[in-house]
Amino acid sequence: MATQTLSHCYEEIIEWCWASEHELITNPHWTSCYLIDGLLIDTGAPGGVEDFRKFVNSLGTQKIQACILTHTHEDHAGGAHMLQNEFNVPIYASEKAIPILKTGYTYPEYRQVVWGEDGVLPVDVKLLPNPISSMSGKYTFHIIPIPGHAPEQVALIEKQQEWVFVSDGIQTKYKRIFGKTSNIQEDISQIYQSIRTLNQFTEGMMDLTLFLPGGKLFGKDLISEKLEELWNLRQEVQELNSQGNSVDEIVRKIFGEQDIFALFTHGELSKKNLILSIISWINN
Ligand SMILES: [Zn+2]
Repeated sequence: MATQTLSHCYEEIIEWCWASEHELITNPHWTSCYLIDGLLIDTGAPGGVEDFRKFVNSLGTQKIQACILTHTHEDHAGGAHMLQNEFNVPIYASEKAIPILKTGYTYPEYRQVVWGEDGVLPVDVKLLPNPISSMSGKYTFHIIPIPGHAPEQVALIEKQQEWVFVSDGIQTKYKRIFGKTSNIQEDISQIYQSIRTLNQFTEGMMDLTLFLPGGKLFGKDLISEKLEELWNLRQEVQELNSQGNSVDEIVRKIFGEQDIFALFTHGELSKKNLILSIISWINN
């Protein structure tokens, strides 16, 4: 397992990152949690619980006053059960996330390889207030629904500091998405709309910092770049579609032949899912 603890913004933000180091995974796939003045955003993956416990212990007592889950995916909600049961930390999430987190769930083997085998254990989760203040009242986070990657997903924005926590709400490159038979059904038109919402909400924030998993920090430009990338992709698919190309031909012409992820995930995470989602975006 790989872990790293980073600090950002004059040590006001502690980021704890975790990735599994399974032999099948060539590049570490990081998940991150952030601690800001007593508020913890996300909890890592089920496979990282032991390391996460060490991290929480290293902070000393009373350091985490509350925890917010951005969405229910295992790499963000995986440590919530432990945090609640061993450290008595209240867990908050959006309305749509609550029933999923209260029952917990398991996930397929290819995701167990990356995020651990234990599944997401049930958590007694409370409705996330909007806005929510940090422990000393120093920071206030506005909650913005950003569906698309997950229907229940939210972003947290601290307007004064111009901090934006999007977790998986923005990907650095759109090449493939979850779909087919997966319990994760990503929707590219919703992802696009959610990035537009973020763009509107952050208008005029020239020093904006976007926090993406794995210690990746970006400025405001990433938002407009992603809008452009997705719109261009839509145009490209639309053109190939109107020329009578099949879905497979469109996939091949845009992204090339190989899709190792599609093989590994039985088509649940694939380039084809992305093209199919763009086609239904065009048709709606
Ligand atoms: Zn996710």
